[in-house]
Amino acid sequence: MSEDSLLDHALVRLDEAAAHLNIDPDVIEKLKYARETTKVRLMIRMDDGSRKSFLAWRCRYDDTRGPTKGGIRFHPDASADEVETLAFWMTFKCAVMNLPYGGGKGAVQVDPRKLSKAELERLSRAYIQAFARTIGPDRDIPAPDVYTNSMIMGWMADEYAQIVGRHEPAVITGKPIALGGSLGRGDATARGGFYLVRHLARQLRLAPSLRVAVQGFGNAGQHIARLMASDGHRIVAVSDSEGAVYSANGLDLDLLLAAKAQGRSVVSTAGEAGHEFLAGDELVGVEAELLVPSALENMIHEHNAGAVKAKLVLELANGPVTPEADEILAANGVVVLPDILANAGGVTVSYFEWVQNRQGFYWTAEEIHERLRAIMEREGRAIWDIAQDKKTSMRTAAYVHALGRLAEAIEAHGTQSFFTS
Ligand code: NAD
Repeated sequence: MSEDSLLDHALVRLDEAAAHLNIDPDVIEKLKYARETTKVRLMIRMDDGSRKSFLAWRCRYDDTRGPTKGGIRFHPDASADEVETLAFWMTFKCAVMNLPYGGGKGAVQVDPRKLSKAELERLSRAYIQAFARTIGPDRDIPAPDVYTNSMIMGWMADEYAQIVGRHEPAVITGKPIALGGSLGRGDATARGGFYLVRHLARQLRLAPSLRVAVQGFGNAGQHIARLMASDGHRIVAVSDSEGAVYSANGLDLDLLLAAKAQGRSVVSTAGEAGHEFLAGDELVGVEAELLVPSALENMIHEHNAGAVKAKLVLELANGPVTPEADEILAANGVVVLPDILANAGGVTVSYFEWVQNRQGFYWTAEEIHERLRAIMEREGRAIWDIAQDKKTSMRTAAYVHALGRLAEAIEAHGTQSFFTS
């Protein structure tokens, strides 16, 4: 990648979208910068009695449309730039789905696999002790992200309740069901993407049975593989941080899911059930109709985008395709369903969880799925129509759609022409 920050890359999308809309310059000025990013050092007691510190951040990028919403990532490469970029994307994602939220994000610079379970709990609670005044059900609502999960959300919600002295489940989403979590949150990100592909299948001229390659086999990757397979599609390749496996006849999903459940890499299944080992990056170029990036940012870049054979990319990960790769994919006729739409099922069901916590009345899984499907289809269709109308990519159309809503909210506080006329 060039020397520009990740946020600089992300802001290119803002300018592209603004070119299609007649919006007040105030809007761009407001959306170009994070409103508030707090950096802290968390100190925890390790199991061996020593003390260790970890850098952590929470960013509230923009809260014009409501309290900020966004996950907490535990990753050794986490940085302020990454957190602000993810919070910028959340701002647009919540606007794409018309959720009453702004965008936020948090992270701890840590490799959680190197911590014991007790150390992980202490670190999770330390994060909430540090940010208890930043977050809140009407201010900033965290959720899980890479290498955080529902148990961690449960510890965090409990720590918050102890600090404020009352039960406050709506402060955080993605909690275990027994602690006020929502049915359907576990697979919501993948399910939203799945509904989107199914809804646009005719417009995208998709065959009834697709070959699917899934990059990253965590929450998003495992669920999309399961949902697509149960709908009659063939999962031909999956990868994780240690490499990939491939089978032209379709991988054995039960075998892969069992390996992950036991803490093993997908590559540990190579040699079984016809699974062939591939180096991780080779997954991008396998023969498939659908490629689903479900790992981290910038994994499809100018050096591997030309190898993509799929005609459709479903971005379940945030920011998996660099702007340079986007151009290469577009030139090769590959349609990209962009992250701020494709993976928005997660935040949408998080929103349902927050609503249920606040009303103290819980919905069935069928109600959750049906409401999610309706929103994915409504916003997916609107973005498809914008893309056709303005002859743009689905990504630009998604940004135009979101920016229109953000602009309306920002302009409702008064624009330059209002104050000077
Ligand atoms: P996760 O931690 O459950 O899984 C991440 C997966 O990526 C793991 O299988 C890991 O091995 C794999 N990975 C890491 N480095 C890799 C590499 N170099 N090559 C291939 N695989 C690699 O995380 P998740 O929750 O599934 O999130 C994945 C992506 O989806 C992230 O970009 C996240 O921001 C995005 N996302 C997740 C949700 C959600 O609800 N979980 C919602 C929206 C967006």
